Amino acid sequence: MRTSLFDLFKIGIGPSSSHTMGPMRAARAFVQRLESAGQLEETAEVAAELYGSLALTGIGHGTDRAVLLGLAGERPEETDPETAAARIAAVRHSGRLPLLGRREIPFDEARHLCFHKDLVLPGHPNGMRFSARRADGSLVAREVYYSVGGGFIQREGEKPADQAARPAVPYPFASAAELLETGERASLSVWQLMLENESALNGREAVLEYIRKIWAAMEAAIDRGLSTHGILPGGLNVQRRAPRLMARVRDGNRNDLFRGMDSVNAFAMAVNEENAAGGRVVTAPTNGAAGVIPAVMRYYRENFSGPSETHPERAIERFFLTAAAVGVLFKENASISGAEVGCQGEVGVAASMAAAGLVAAFEGSNAEIENAAEIAMEHHLGMTCDPIAGLVQIPCIERNALGAVKAINACRLAMQGEGAHKVSLDQVIKTMYETGLDMQARYKETSLAGLAVNAVEC
Ligand code: SF4
Repeated sequence: MRTSLFDLFKIGIGPSSSHTMGPMRAARAFVQRLESAGQLEETAEVAAELYGSLALTGIGHGTDRAVLLGLAGERPEETDPETAAARIAAVRHSGRLPLLGRREIPFDEARHLCFHKDLVLPGHPNGMRFSARRADGSLVAREVYYSVGGGFIQREGEKPADQAARPAVPYPFASAAELLETGERASLSVWQLMLENESALNGREAVLEYIRKIWAAMEAAIDRGLSTHGILPGGLNVQRRAPRLMARVRDGNRNDLFRGMDSVNAFAMAVNEENAAGGRVVTAPTNGAAGVIPAVMRYYRENFSGPSETHPERAIERFFLTAAAVGVLFKENASISGAEVGCQGEVGVAASMAAAGLVAAFEGSNAEIENAAEIAMEHHLGMTCDPIAGLVQIPCIERNALGAVKAINACRLAMQGEGAHKVSLDQVIKTMYETGLDMQARYKETSLAGLAVNAVEC
C-alpha cells in the first residue's frame, strides 16, 4: 500500500485537482528545487509550458492562475481563495513575479506561459515543462512534471511522491481480494485494517485528527455552497442552484418522498459550485468529483446519525477509512485522472468510495463493502470527460449529484443482497482502466468531443 488517506483527501482550491492543484504544486516544486540547489539567486527568467489536456482545457480549469501562484511559492492547502485573484492580477499588472515569494523577476505571461495544444508529452496527457534561465539567457534548469490526477504530481525520471519508500504497514493489500482475505484472517473490518495501516504511516491520533479536519472542510464547503447565490465564473452563465434546491427541501413537505434525494443533490452541487468558483474544497479523490463523498456523508449524518448514537464520530471514521481503502485500490491499480481514463475515473471512483464508506457507516460487512464499491463503479463504466468550454461546470456539477445518489443506491443494493455477486471489485477496476485506455483521447478532458462540441455555449 503506497497511497495514504492523506494523499487521497487533500484540502485545496478549485476548480480542478489535476489542472489547478497539480500544476500549482509542480510549479512550486520546481522553484523549490532551484532554491535547494542554490540556483534561485542566479535565476532571472522562468518559463512554463503546458501540454496535452492541460493546454486544451487549462484556461477553463485555472491552470494559468495556478502556475503563477505556484511559481510565487503558494500551496493549494494554504492559498486563500478570497484573495488569490488580487495576487494574480498584481503579477499581470506589474509584469513582475515574486519567485518563491521572495525573488522578484520580470514575468510576461504571453512569453513565459505557453499552451502547446497540439503536443502531448510521453508520460501522461497532463504534462508541464519548466525552465529557468540566467540574465544572459543560459539555462539554469529545466524539468518536466506530470499532473497525474487528484492533485498528485510526478517529476520525470522520479517515482511519484506517493510511491516513494514508506514505512511498512501491518496489513498491506494490492487488490480487493487481498483486502478481503486479510480482513478475514485478522478478523478486522476494512476500516480497522486501514486505521492500523494509516497509524503505522502517520500515527493514530494524527490520522483521526486529519479525518476530523477533512470532514470539517467538506462540511464548510457544503454550507458555503448552500448559502451562496449568483453566476459561476468562466462565461457560461451557469447559475448556482444549490441554495434554491436546499430551500425547497427545508420549506417543502416533510413527507415528500423525493426529500432525501433532493437534499443529496443539493449537498453535492453545493460543493461542486464552490469548486467551480475556485473555492476551498477537498479532493475526494479529485476536485471535479469533490461533491460525491461529502454529500453521501452529510446525508447519512442528517438522516441516520441521530441523538441516540453515542459516538457519531466513529461513523465518520469508519466512512472515511473505508472510502480511502477503495480509493487506494483505484489509484494503485487503475487511475483517478479524467485526462487518462475519463470521468469514470473521477466521479465513478468517488461514487465507489462513497458507497463503500456508507456501508461501513452502517456497520455492514467487508463483503458488502466490496460489493457496494463494485456496483457503484460498474454503473459508471465508460463515462467520458467532456466539460463544456473546459470549465468544471457542465456536466460536472450535476454529475456529482447523480454520482452521490448512485453511491447510496449501490450501498442499499449491496446491503440487501444475498452476498453472492458475479463481478468482483477487482474485475471492475481492471475493466474501468482498460476502458479508459481504449477511450479516444478527445473524450478525456480535452473539450474536443462529446457535450463540449455538441452543446451550444450560451
Ligand atoms: S466531466 Fe468528470 S472528469 Fe471531466 S472535468 Fe467534469 S468531473 Fe472532472
